[in-house]
Amino acid sequence: MQESLYKRMFKLVLQDWPYLLLSTLAALVYVVLNSASIWLTASLINNILMDFQQLLADHSQLTGKGTLTLNEKLKYWTNGLILRETPHETLKVLCVYIMGVFLTKNVFLYMKNYFMTLVQYHLITELRNRLYKHFNALSFSYFDQKKTGELTSIVINDVANLRRTLGISFHQLLVEPINLLTFTLLLFVISWKLALLSIIILPLAGLTILSIGRSIRRKSKRTAAMIAGITNIITETLSSIRVVKAFAMEEYEVQRFFKETHHYFQLIFRRAKLRLLASPITETLGVTIGVLLLWVGGIEVLSGEGLSSEDFLRFILLLFAMMTPLRKLSKVNIALQTGAASAERIFSILDTPPTIVDKADAVKIDSFKEKISFHNVSFRYESDDKVLKDISFEIEKGSIVALVGSSGAGKSTLADLIPRFYDVNNGGITVDGHDVRDLSLNSLRRLMGVVTQETILFNDTVRANIAYGQKDVNDDQVIPAAKAANALEFINNLSDGFDTVIGEKGIKLSGGQRQRLAIARAIMKNPPILILDEATSALDTESERLVQKALETLMANRTVLVIAHRLSTVTNANKIILLDKGEIKEVGTHNELMKKDGLYNNLYNIQFS
Ligand code: ADP
Repeated sequence: MQESLYKRMFKLVLQDWPYLLLSTLAALVYVVLNSASIWLTASLINNILMDFQQLLADHSQLTGKGTLTLNEKLKYWTNGLILRETPHETLKVLCVYIMGVFLTKNVFLYMKNYFMTLVQYHLITELRNRLYKHFNALSFSYFDQKKTGELTSIVINDVANLRRTLGISFHQLLVEPINLLTFTLLLFVISWKLALLSIIILPLAGLTILSIGRSIRRKSKRTAAMIAGITNIITETLSSIRVVKAFAMEEYEVQRFFKETHHYFQLIFRRAKLRLLASPITETLGVTIGVLLLWVGGIEVLSGEGLSSEDFLRFILLLFAMMTPLRKLSKVNIALQTGAASAERIFSILDTPPTIVDKADAVKIDSFKEKISFHNVSFRYESDDKVLKDISFEIEKGSIVALVGSSGAGKSTLADLIPRFYDVNNGGITVDGHDVRDLSLNSLRRLMGVVTQETILFNDTVRANIAYGQKDVNDDQVIPAAKAANALEFINNLSDGFDTVIGEKGIKLSGGQRQRLAIARAIMKNPPILILDEATSALDTESERLVQKALETLMANRTVLVIAHRLSTVTNANKIILLDKGEIKEVGTHNELMKKDGLYNNLYNIQFS
């Protein structure tokens, strides 16, 4: 799992391989120049410290020498580059070179980071786009299980985490190792004996320092937990002061408190002692290594064999330069883990397939002619009990079918099955004889207008909200729709009319106004089939009347399945279906059902009268 995760992360970045390549090339140049800058710095210091005549003599001695070691060759080459007639001239040249190398090095550092950052920001944009696209493709049932906040956090935070990880790991897994390798090679070129010694003791010391640090942190964490416990006792004692006084227990409590504060003192002091130890221990260890190298190297320099003072200086400078990359490398694992956890969350979304999709040979339907039929439909949400059981009924074209029943009976669920927001578990739903699962989702949903209780509006203009989902609309269509929905008057009274931005979720509008906008949207879409969930929320009488009129206009000449909460709707319905605990209990017109002394009669008296 973990391995394939890293592979996938790697593949993601590889999409931008040209930039990645540029960044890598820049990094390589940077690494080389980095070594050169240290090399030249050593030359500079040596140049200042050494007698100039001695320098010239050394150089001409090398000129005369037959075979040179690599170190000698490099030094000879460097000196050839910088040595001039006088010490001042030489110093000037050297300064110019050092300036040049540092400048170029930083230009390449910038280039490396520039291209890498470009890759990173491409990546987060691409990932966010992919996630958002996938959200839109995913089916309802997915969003039933996931919290919006959680999904948002993945798109924002986890994607950002991944970016950070990629940035860090590219640098630390590619650039730093090459850097370290170059440094190590140079160390060996200068003095293989000293290099070998450092290679053995450095990792040992590094591990020791790391484990000391870790152990201190662990102990310190444990102490912190104890401290939290003790603080609790202190606050508790103080808050029960009333009882203490009532029972004249002051002296006892004071003693108890003293004991606690003493204990507290011991704990915090212990933690402080541990913390304070970390840095002296690290430094002592570091210095011990330094002194050891100084001793071994210094003896060689003093004895005048092998190592020259310039070599030794260069060696120490390189060794120091290795510390930062080493420290960073020890932290790369943490960064990778964090990134992997984020990547896992991101991939888990992208890997979830939409459950409701078109079949390969999906049929396009462009009109509604006869009827919608439910054939022994059963349905349950993920792993729950059946919400709908063996439902069969028909909605004839042009009729109004009202769904009634107590809350939780399954009315909304039933309505959601027709546009295939969910798929049935058993049985089937047909539109003009086509099983909805065989139809193209787009063509199926185009036949339907869905007006739900919570009107879903976007933070956009009134016009855009009414025309939502329609292409190429003009005011000749929007205005009549608004008028038919009884919304024209209030829209015209808004500050910018149809151009008014209505705020998030239509916050600037009243409940009744929001509903009429949603109705105008449905009128605008002009679908042959209407699925309507009448609002239960209380509107004032005037508002209610306006919404009611708008709904009547909307329902006229359409086939309607309505979850009924209004008296007029049920009495006008061609067919009323009474649902109870997911089953159809009664079917008929209002009059037929009222004659029975059954559930409908009962419900009607409670709900509608
Ligand atoms: P009604 O519209 O008649 O009030 P619903 O169709 O909303 O009834 O709900 C029917 C049953 O299905 C209820 O028990 C409800 O808790 C459950 N239910 C509704 N929506 C979901 C969902 N998204 N996930 C799981 N269970 C649900």
